[in-house]
Amino acid sequence: MKKVYLDSASTTAIRPEVIQEMTKVMAEDFGNPSSTHSFGRNAKNILELSRKSIAKQLNSTAQEIIFTSCGTEANNWILRSAVKDLKVKRIITSKIEHHAVLYTLLALQNEYDIQVDYVAVKPNGEVDITDLVELLSQETKTLVSLMHVNNETGNILDLERVVRICKQHNALFHSDTVQSIGKTEIDLQAIPVDFIVASAHKFHGPKGVGFAFVRKNSGLQPLFFGGEQEKGLRAGTEALHQIAGMAKALELSYTNLKTDRTYISELKSYLISQLEIEFPAFVINGTADGFYNILNVLLPFSEDKTAMILFHLDMKGIAVSRGSACQSGTIKPSHVLAEMLSNEDLKKPSLRISFSHYNTKKDIDLLIEALKSI
Ligand code: PLP
Repeated sequence: MKKVYLDSASTTAIRPEVIQEMTKVMAEDFGNPSSTHSFGRNAKNILELSRKSIAKQLNSTAQEIIFTSCGTEANNWILRSAVKDLKVKRIITSKIEHHAVLYTLLALQNEYDIQVDYVAVKPNGEVDITDLVELLSQETKTLVSLMHVNNETGNILDLERVVRICKQHNALFHSDTVQSIGKTEIDLQAIPVDFIVASAHKFHGPKGVGFAFVRKNSGLQPLFFGGEQEKGLRAGTEALHQIAGMAKALELSYTNLKTDRTYISELKSYLISQLEIEFPAFVINGTADGFYNILNVLLPFSEDKTAMILFHLDMKGIAVSRGSACQSGTIKPSHVLAEMLSNEDLKKPSLRISFSHYNTKKDIDLLIEALKSI
């Protein structure tokens, strides 16, 4: 049976060149970057070249890139330090953020005397910018946390516009860019966002490594304490092979971006056209101009199909998702779709199908065939 992976918003296959780079670092460059001898200096060199390479892709300075263990850690760090150290008293976010943001904010609300406000979300999953402007009229030290590309719907936030609004209102702006880094151009000189985060496994790099972009002179303080790594902002011996792999993966993502984006966009259009033929009553959950590698659809099936649809597809070797990965396999509806759909529609089966350059039209044909047999 041919297996079909259509869940790249959850994680991606590592590129062979990345595996090669990581294997080389593991085999040959095992020094500790903090050691002063030649082994350490060699490791430090790889570390700093990786940082420079990542910074170059995003048009930031190398010192603004801080390596972390994942996107979740980077989100936790920024939000917690903003409250604890930058004395932010109020955070504006939305109910469609990733749990790495939402649950962090709930914890911070319990621990500190902060106000958390949720900007309105339209039925198509778009963040209501007029409501954001209204919320920002309060004179409190505020941080806005809104994700760039939604991991469940693929909806895109206009980063440039939100940055401008935040600047006008003197608010800090953090954006979870885990789904967009490596998949779209981000110029951090042109877009003066304060903080963004990334996770290597979303752009064909290894799991267990990510980074935060922290704009110069932000005043952010560490989450935990120990060694002087990452200028004391993130203690712990750096996972050199992971970091080198991440830098390689990001470089390749941007080298191939134009070709991959065109190819993947065509796959998405093909899937939509096939759904229109086979299931004309299907509905896209999200905006019509969503991100090119994610499609979330409400299928015109009865409610009793909801619980078994993923299982049925899995039996046929097809991997898709019902929402973010942590929610797959549970009956609990996605917290993102819950903000967008009626109670009635929420009970019906919705699928998130997400692509990479490794997919083909054949994969989509197999998905459509499998859906027809349900
Ligand atoms: N933020 C978004 C938007 C994501 O999609 C994910 C991954 O699912 C994360 C954060 C968490 O990233 P990581 O798996 O690196 O902790």
